[in-house]
Amino acid sequence: MMTFSEAPTRTLSPPLSTGEVNFLWWFIQGSLMNAPVREDLRRGWGPCERHTLAVLIIENALRPHYLHGPVILFHDLIKRAVAAYAYAWPLHDLRTRLALTPSRPCHFCALGIDAASRGDVPHDRFVHAGDETNLRNFMADTHDGWRSWVCPACTGRSGQGGMLCRRHLLDDGKAWDHREFASQREKLEGLADHLDRYERAFSVDYHGTDNAADHAALIAAAGWLGGWGQLWKFWTMASPVCCGVDAQREGRTGAVDGPLR
Ligand SMILES: [Zn+2]
Ligand SMILES: [Zn+2]
Repeated sequence: MMTFSEAPTRTLSPPLSTGEVNFLWWFIQGSLMNAPVREDLRRGWGPCERHTLAVLIIENALRPHYLHGPVILFHDLIKRAVAAYAYAWPLHDLRTRLALTPSRPCHFCALGIDAASRGDVPHDRFVHAGDETNLRNFMADTHDGWRSWVCPACTGRSGQGGMLCRRHLLDDGKAWDHREFASQREKLEGLADHLDRYERAFSVDYHGTDNAADHAALIAAAGWLGGWGQLWKFWTMASPVCCGVDAQREGRTGAVDGPLR
């Protein structure tokens, strides 16, 4: 049963518009499966940072136990990233860089779905859709699994580990050293495996076969594909669920035993 907090948490700025809530609600319900839409998302390597965060907020708020749509979306893109790394041998890395470069803008931005857009959405749905509580809980419960994926270039956390996101990988010469390249491919393959198990668990015969590490892969994939700037800002912003900066959170006991492999 869907439950809502009595005091919704809202930090996104600018806040979600009625146009964004209305479009994303129906998008995840059906448009995501349209071939031309999927192709547009593939060529753009997924939504921009704002719309990645918007998808995660809205789906966690309105369908907290059924994140099937976001899992399909990000799993599909991570599988394509793994395929792009198939050219992992010296002197062929340029093909991978080219494959990871978007040839389209964010699907939603291109349609004019932004913080100023208007949509015909029932008032209750609009109010509940922007409640960030469930996404904060989801991220807190899976933190140990996704934190090693946080991009140091997006977040200014150099020297604290992490992994460059897709966008910053494209700009980083060292990342394309062959040994680094093989390591990235291995990590992405691991991420795809987790998302594969998560997506399969939505079918009746496999219900309950997913685990917290698989759920963490959803956040890791969203950040790696679109960038961590807004996702990290969202995470580190104070909330009733989890307060303070990430350094304080490092001691938190999450449901995941360690970083995703
Ligand atoms: Zn966008
Ligand atoms: Zn980055």
